[in-house]
Formats: sequence, C-alpha cells, structure tokens
Amino acid sequence: MKQPLRTESIISILKDFKPKDMSFLALHEPSFQGNEWVYVKECLDSGWVSSVGKYVDKFEQMLQEYTGMKRAVAVMNGTAALHVSLLLVGVEPEDEILIPTLTFIATANAVAYCGAIPHFVDCHEETLGLDPRKLELYLQEIAEVRPEGCFNKQTGKRIKAVVPMHTFGHPVDLDYLLEVCVKYRLELVEDAAESLGSFYKGKHTGHWGKVSALSFNGNKVVTTGGGGAILTNDEELGRLAKHLTTTAKKPHKWAFEHDQIGYNYRMPNINAALGCAQLEMLPEFIEQKRALAKKYKEAFSMLDGIKLLTEPTHSKSNYWLHALILDPEYAPLRDDILTETNEQGIMTRPAWALLHKLPMFCNSPKMDVSIAESIEQRMINIPSSPYLGANNV
Ligand SMILES: *Cc1c(COP(=O)(O)O)cnc(C)c1O
Repeated sequence: MKQPLRTESIISILKDFKPKDMSFLALHEPSFQGNEWVYVKECLDSGWVSSVGKYVDKFEQMLQEYTGMKRAVAVMNGTAALHVSLLLVGVEPEDEILIPTLTFIATANAVAYCGAIPHFVDCHEETLGLDPRKLELYLQEIAEVRPEGCFNKQTGKRIKAVVPMHTFGHPVDLDYLLEVCVKYRLELVEDAAESLGSFYKGKHTGHWGKVSALSFNGNKVVTTGGGGAILTNDEELGRLAKHLTTTAKKPHKWAFEHDQIGYNYRMPNINAALGCAQLEMLPEFIEQKRALAKKYKEAFSMLDGIKLLTEPTHSKSNYWLHALILDPEYAPLRDDILTETNEQGIMTRPAWALLHKLPMFCNSPKMDVSIAESIEQRMINIPSSPYLGANNV
C-alpha cells in the first residue's frame, strides 16, 4: 500500500538525503575537487587571465571530444551562445522563432536580441520539453511553406527556426522534431544549456541542431563561473561563430581591423581553466547524478500521487535537476511543500513562470499551451548536487 501524499512525507524523505553535518541542502552546488585550483593558479601566476591563453583552445577541444561535435566555440555565457547561434542560422528581425513556453528566460531573450519574435510552443508531459507531435499538428494548421521559407498564415511573418530545450537534461524527441523541421523548412537550434552529458540514441544532444548552445553557469552540470559554448558540425559555421564572438577582427599580427559588427562574447582564459578541470570531473558528476536519480526514485515510489521525472526512452540523461511532478489532484499542495522544505533548510524551487505570461512576451503568438500550464502548477525541483548521489553519503 502506498502512503497518501502529505507535505511531511516529502520532507522526511528529503531529510534522509541531508548529510548530518549540514544545516542547508542547496538545489545545485558546484564542486571543485579536481584540478581547478592548479589550472586557475597557473593563469594567475602567468598573467594570462583574459582573452588570450591556452585554456580556451584546450576547453574547446575537450568539449569537441566529449560531445563528438566538430567545433565548439567557448563564449562568456549561455545566453550569448544562443544569441549567436540564432544569427548563424540566419534569423532576421521580425522572424518568428518557435520556442517552448516552459524554459528559462534566456531562450526568449536570445530571440529578442535578434529583433525576432518568440512564438510559444507547448511541452510534452513526459520530457517537459517541446512536443514535436503537437508542433506538427499546429504547423499543419497555421503554416504555409513557400519558396522563401515557412510562413505563419495568421501573422504573415516568416517562421525561421525552432529552438527546443532539453529540460533538466532530459532530451526531447529529436528525430521526430528534425523530421518536422525538414518538412516545414525550419532551422533547428538546440538550447542544450541544461543537457551537457545527455545523449539521445547514443549521440550527445546538440548534434541535431545545425547549431546548438551550452551553458556553464554556476548551477549547471559543470561550471566556468559564467560561460557558454556554441556547438556545430559545420566547419564554416564554426569558423564564423569564432569570428563573430571575438569582435569580428581580421587575423593580423598587429593591426586592428574588423570586417563586420561582431560581439565581444569570448570566454576569458581564467574561466576556461576552471572549465577544463570541471570537464575532467564530468563523467563522475553524471554517474553520481544518475545514482541520485535511482535513490530518489526508490524513496518516492512509496508515495501516492507523485512521480520523479525520469529519462525518456532512447535517452541517457545527465539528470541536471531532479524534478517531482504532483498528480493534478495534489497540485494545491505545491506551495505548502515549497514553503515547508525551504523553511527547513532544504532548497526546492517551482517551475519557471511560463514565458508567454511575462509582460514583454504576453502579446507574442502561441499555440495551446495547456500541458505547460498544468506542469507549472505541479512541478518542484529538489536538491540535485552530484555529491548527494555519491556512495559514501
Ligand atoms: C542556463 C540556461 C541558459 C543559459 O544561461 P546563462 O546564464 O546565460 O549561461 C539558457 N537556456 C536555458 C534553458 C538554461 O537553463
């Protein structure tokens, strides 16, 4: 017999995960147990802390090896990576870009930086990411493919691209989504900010988009303090990504000449040094996070009316943030759970406020987003630091 869901039962389960010597359990803490101190000290000792130095190249190479992608270009944050990714696939002012409404604000902001318009898409109940089937049905209704591209019959604007986001590290159904993109002549750009270390059908996320974006913010799977990367398998786009993010300066021994409006988005060497040490730890972090998923799943299986978000079929997820989903009849308990856990030193968080409701995007076009609206009421992120899954805890 399962126990009926009560706030106290959730608290008691989570408390069991709290190490005895700790008074506070964070949502996601970075861990610096590897070569972080050595590599960063080397930057300080040598003076190479800023835009020149060996660690940026090394970090990019390590990312290429790990993801299996041809080119990784390190930048100063994930939002900048998304911004430039959109420019690279040819997004222009007034284009509409299909993005999930359930995502971090960066996805929509990057669209807005291009002068383009976010067009909001619903999420799938199982992945919490963009639902390709629902998108396909919607496009059948509102889109028209012309020689110049895909157009929204309702607004008259060009729909240029789709940006799926792999929520909490769980990959969306990329094969299906790519099919839809080909059919409607849409560019695919993956917001892979949360999915470093997540694989779909054996390949790292990011391979399906023509260009994809990673983030290394302080709370991500690995951190560079702040940072991001653009991934692509297209050598020419990779070269252009580097050029655009380093002020579009023409290579020259001493002259300053720039051939277009570029961006000072490069990742400083000191951040890349931190990143190299963190990438060395990545396999271990992911093993621990996956072990934590197993432990959480078992612990929460005793409760009725709640489930732990688990990796979709064909996928291996990094389990960046663990998420509890309450059954609809228990949705009214959400705020009580959030209040009580946080009061007791267990950090939990609700879903992001849906983007289509925010003042700057509330007039943007959108499809029916009823699944996202339901999930918004019922989702809670729980402590997800790798060490919680380590054997000795
Ligand atoms: C973290 C994140 C980003 C990038 O954020 P930065 O803080 O700019 O690195 C983009 N999209 C999503 C979904 C994210 O979670």
